[in-house]
Amino acid sequence: MSMANFPIFIKLKNCPCLIVGGGDVASRKVQQLLKADARITVIALKINSTLKGLVRNGLITHLQKSYEQIDIEQMELVIAATDDRKLNNLIAQHAQSRKILINVVDNPDAGTFIMPSVIDRNPVMIAVSTGGASPVLARLLRARLETLIPASYGKLARLISRFRERVKRQFPDIRERRRFWEHILQGPVAEMLYAGQDQRAMDSLEKQLAEESPYEDSRGEVYLVGGGPGDPDLLTFRALRLMQQSDVVLYDRLVAPAIVDLVRKDAERIYVGKERDKHALPQNEINRLLVDLAKQGKRVLRLKGGDPFIFGRGGEEIDLLSENDIPFQIVPGITAASGCASYSGIPLTHRDFAQSCLFITGHLKDGTMNLNWPALVQPQQTLAVYMGTHGIEILSRELIKHGLSENMPAAIVQQGTTGEQRTYITTVKDLPKIPEQYEVKPPSMIIIGNVVSLHEKLAWFEPDKS
Ligand code: SAH
Repeated sequence: MSMANFPIFIKLKNCPCLIVGGGDVASRKVQQLLKADARITVIALKINSTLKGLVRNGLITHLQKSYEQIDIEQMELVIAATDDRKLNNLIAQHAQSRKILINVVDNPDAGTFIMPSVIDRNPVMIAVSTGGASPVLARLLRARLETLIPASYGKLARLISRFRERVKRQFPDIRERRRFWEHILQGPVAEMLYAGQDQRAMDSLEKQLAEESPYEDSRGEVYLVGGGPGDPDLLTFRALRLMQQSDVVLYDRLVAPAIVDLVRKDAERIYVGKERDKHALPQNEINRLLVDLAKQGKRVLRLKGGDPFIFGRGGEEIDLLSENDIPFQIVPGITAASGCASYSGIPLTHRDFAQSCLFITGHLKDGTMNLNWPALVQPQQTLAVYMGTHGIEILSRELIKHGLSENMPAAIVQQGTTGEQRTYITTVKDLPKIPEQYEVKPPSMIIIGNVVSLHEKLAWFEPDKS
């Protein structure tokens, strides 16, 4: 099948361009053209407030008149964006007879060019077109690409162009040069740039250029990524991108299977076990494994449930990496307290009920529950208890003993944000009864405080009980 429209990118800096029409469609086109520094004239009897603003700021010229054929003289590009179809087609005829580029907004076939959806990572531009078949499809595709391409991709392109000549001199052979760039663009240098460490990225590139054989001793890197509480929709763009470029992934029970599924298909998967399970890999062995894999030059994804720095031992895992000088980055995730709160309609703070919120764990390193009880029973405060079900009786008893009202509302949110989410509402006194009466499946989060009473009104996510 032949191409109905041939994609090219065109320079418009200081080019005289005409937009006929003054409504929202016209103003969107004007804003797009402005990004290319075009010299823009708008012809319309009435223009919308956006266009008025642009006129006021001297960015475009407005001629308040009806369109006439003579208006396209001297123009290099015309967009017919009135709501009069006939007029639009007439403008198209005029423009075509003068070989002026013309786009007709409501009738792509009548013009000589169409405007794509653009993913702008200046100087990198990605244009998506469905040949006018479906602007909605183009928009959806664009949204997908937006999530996959880091916002600072343009910086990468600028870095390359700065080093281009030097790399060319150093690697006269084109295959070798390509290999070098591939290595740079897919490794730590690119990641440093995305993470805003521009100077480090540049230093590292310099260093690799200075080496005899830049890739032989290439180190891998580690991504410590928060996978959120379970719903894959709650991943960050960065998390998803790193998940799709890793060579090997280490994950544990807390990471929902739907999330592990999004890791690159051919990445090696290493299950590092369950917390209370004898098959679990001890923490120090996980730390060691991360270092060893990275030293083999691999891009290692350490995927954690929730946020890696909230009861996630993220700090311990990074420690050894830093000692071994292995590049790493840490990507925050939505922590269970936050996910469970939103998905069960229990705000963690509220002007009437709670001015503070404590994230605490009911499971301490030495196995006890030796918490700072007086601090936990302060008024106007919400408690979000991680790993609390095992010690639920002690929790309930001690809170009451230290002064919390026994009728204080409390909730247990099971498997928050997933299809298995259940919310049990009770009081602090009756908390221990819930796991006795119901089969509460892990992981689950306990939320205590007056905010829990809002659940009744604010709950919105209630998956069907299967
Ligand atoms: N780093 C994680 C927490 C790890 S501790 C985070 O930021 O969320 C593990 C505890 O988190 C579990 O025992 C449970 O209390 C809580 N948790 C994790 N995911 C959960 C979920 N989807 N629903 C309810 N609680 C969850």
